[in-house]
Amino acid sequence: MTQAVPKAPSVAAERTPDQPWRVPLSNVDPDAELQQAAADAVASGWWSAGPRVAEFERRFADMCGGGTALAVANGTAALHLALLVLGCGPGDEVIVPSLNFVAAANVIGRVGATPVFCDICGEDDLTLDPADVESAITPRSRAVVVMHYGGHPCDMERLLDLAARHGLAVVEDAAHAPGATLGGRCLGGLGDIGCFSFFANKNLPIGEGGMVLTSDAGLAERLRLLRSHGMTTMSWDRHRGHANTYDVLVPGFNYRMDDIRAALGIVHLERLAARNAARGRIVEEYRAELDGWNGIQMPFRPRGSASPAHHLAVILLPASVSRDAVRSSLAGERVQTSVHYPPTHCFSWYRDTARSRPLPVTESLADRLLTLPLYPDMEADAVSAVIDAVRVAVRSPRGGPTPPT
Ligand SMILES: *Cc1c(COP(=O)(O)O)cnc(C)c1O
Repeated sequence: MTQAVPKAPSVAAERTPDQPWRVPLSNVDPDAELQQAAADAVASGWWSAGPRVAEFERRFADMCGGGTALAVANGTAALHLALLVLGCGPGDEVIVPSLNFVAAANVIGRVGATPVFCDICGEDDLTLDPADVESAITPRSRAVVVMHYGGHPCDMERLLDLAARHGLAVVEDAAHAPGATLGGRCLGGLGDIGCFSFFANKNLPIGEGGMVLTSDAGLAERLRLLRSHGMTTMSWDRHRGHANTYDVLVPGFNYRMDDIRAALGIVHLERLAARNAARGRIVEEYRAELDGWNGIQMPFRPRGSASPAHHLAVILLPASVSRDAVRSSLAGERVQTSVHYPPTHCFSWYRDTARSRPLPVTESLADRLLTLPLYPDMEADAVSAVIDAVRVAVRSPRGGPTPPT
């Protein structure tokens, strides 16, 4: 039986598998080592959360310089658990940037709290603006979910300072930022809880998966409980003879990861630093050729203390150019593009449920953002093909000020 498929939302979705992209937005490279790791996990006979999950967690926490890392089903589950253990619920407000994937706002709503959208800094820094966060604070504010856009660090010093002064919890949505550092410290390890995603197009891809990270032992215990039905032990502990029975302390979820995906995660963790660096080199090629060219800008010019994860290659088109026209021109060259993100406050649900605030920077930049292809093993001719196609699109009449309707 076939399902009704909604109309393609954008030019990027118009291509079918028989017209493959010449340059896709991202890719996965299922090489022999990854295939072997998954096959070994399958052959081991332990398919649910077991020794590989435990090893993945241990190694992830080591990479982050300590704390407790708990593997979960996906990044959204990580955010959900984080808000719950921090006590966010009905009557609370949680501040979150509107220029974000919708997951954080959705789980804020699902725990019964109200999302309060805040603005971003500006053309060079698309992360949330600490000054606007501060002006969004009310007596009901409970937490702020900061998002390291594209793997670039937010201004954590100011955000942590104002959170401390106002008694707010800080959740880091580090879905874009595994392996990124600020002042030598790992993103996701600076606030109360860090949340990571290992979705297939993220920097540490395993299919579906996520991680929560905290250095607070009490929060770690509550996260562990809620991840697995509120039960005091998991089957792996019982299998090892560590426990014969269990108690239920709180109504929890099944938000666990399995050993097959953890096996992929262990392999990818070893490669993460090199792959993030490779992304960074491609971003610098884009920057050298496109930043400042005919009004194009490339945000996040290098900053001394930050070592970003380079999840996304985002350019800011000149205001005079139609993004849709540029995207169709690129699609015509079989170059896939995307938009990160349509601002959350503009979606139907959030127009009605969020406390409304002016978001002038987000609104002035959102229609000009364009995400270009980026993956670690992107070939040099793919990078130049994208650069050439962007230049043609921005210069040509199709990319000019009058968009086709
Ligand atoms: C991908 C992503 C998420 C959600 O992660 P999933 O693993 O897809 O549930 C949350 N926030 C941001 C910023 C993301 O990019």
